[in-house]
Amino acid sequence: MALDPDTLAQLLDTVERFVATRLRPLEAQVADEDRIPDAVIEEMRALGLFGLSIPEEHGGLGLTMTEEVQVAFRLGATSPAFRSLIGTNNGIGSQGIVIDGTDEQRAHWLPRLASGEVIGSFCLTEPDVGSDAGSLRTSARRENGHWVIDGTKRYITNGPEAGLFTVFARTDAASKDARGVSAFLVEAGTPGVSLGPNDRKMGQHGAHTCDVVFEGVRVPLEAIIGGPAREGQGFKTAMKVLDRGRLHIGAVCVGIAERLIEDSLRYAMERKQFGEPIAQFQLVQAMLADSRTEAYAARCMVEETARRKEAGRDVSTEAACCKMYASEMVGRVADRAVQIHGGAGYIADYGVERFYRDVRLFRIYEGTTQVQQLVIARNMIREARG
Ligand SMILES: Cc1cc2nc3c(=O)[nH]c(=O)nc-3n(C[C@H](O)[C@H](O)[C@H](O)COP(=O)(O)OP(=O)(O)OC[C@H]3O[C@@H](n4cnc5c(N)ncnc54)[C@H](O)[C@@H]3O)c2cc1C
Repeated sequence: MALDPDTLAQLLDTVERFVATRLRPLEAQVADEDRIPDAVIEEMRALGLFGLSIPEEHGGLGLTMTEEVQVAFRLGATSPAFRSLIGTNNGIGSQGIVIDGTDEQRAHWLPRLASGEVIGSFCLTEPDVGSDAGSLRTSARRENGHWVIDGTKRYITNGPEAGLFTVFARTDAASKDARGVSAFLVEAGTPGVSLGPNDRKMGQHGAHTCDVVFEGVRVPLEAIIGGPAREGQGFKTAMKVLDRGRLHIGAVCVGIAERLIEDSLRYAMERKQFGEPIAQFQLVQAMLADSRTEAYAARCMVEETARRKEAGRDVSTEAACCKMYASEMVGRVADRAVQIHGGAGYIADYGVERFYRDVRLFRIYEGTTQVQQLVIARNMIREARG
């Protein structure tokens, strides 16, 4: 259920202020130290940021899709590492339970995820399995009334921090595709679960990924999301979760693009060459105008798709369009931001080069641009066939 307009305005205002006064001053420090200070994480908890998309009855804010993208636009105004920490609890780390979990699973996990007491993670990618996720090899076999999970998951966001892993494993050994895959809830500390070292990434320092290894990990039959009856349905759960996630990522890309445009405009109006601010030069104006136009187009796409999703329509095509366009768009905007800043754009002190590296990820995870193209075109062909 949607928040009343006053409550929503208050929430958006609070997030905007928190981002501007608390998070933005810490951007360089978080990147240098590769960690978000504990005090900031506590404040994020207090603001309810870990439970934006988790229903109110389970301790979250229960935001609708249109409300969630408004918050994501605002979170985009700072380093994406901050958003990454709360991203899994609101998206891929909790929504499987929200959408397909049993009452017991919801009651047990969602309040902990909503408060940020537990960090959730989503374990789909493997060393030899990325875009073709349905071919995953991690196995789960039945043994004495339990499932036993074996396999390695790669690049798992918040893996080092996670208290809960949503693990996709093949429960039908004879299957080769997505139909034999189930989604399991595995608590950190379960014997046989281990973590690789933190990955050394191009950007988004302060956000962490690592390998998560499962060796003979025994979990009860009820550990499947939705209970034993949903054996073999794990991939369907994953796909439902990705739809919402793609819209959320699209919104974050819009927020970052708008931040970079604001920074670029300010710099262009202050920086003087040939006796006048560089903003007076039409070639610089063209870069500003192109960025503004593209960011506006992406914002409109995200808002409209969120409205359609909220109205109960299937937005699989539109969510893929948003994720693809917004992530490619923010890459171009970041590139122009570097250009407008000239040499300063390449020097770490100004922070623009950090965003340039940070945004590169958005074209890769939660489905690469090429995967979004496949989703969009396949849906178009299916619709045309009727
Ligand atoms: C920082 C980071 C965080 C991540 N977090 C998570 C996480 O929390 N959980 C998780 O499960 N995964 C996570 N991932 C993994 C991410 O989702 C994958 O990296 C991504 O899906 C691509 O898979 P891949 O790396 O194996 O590339 P590949 O699938 O090997 O693709 C390589 C290239 O080939 C292209 N390609 C592949 N197939 C096709 C095709 N059929 N047609 C055209 N082009 C194709 C791709 O688009 C890409 O350009 C994360 C990755 C990173 C880098």
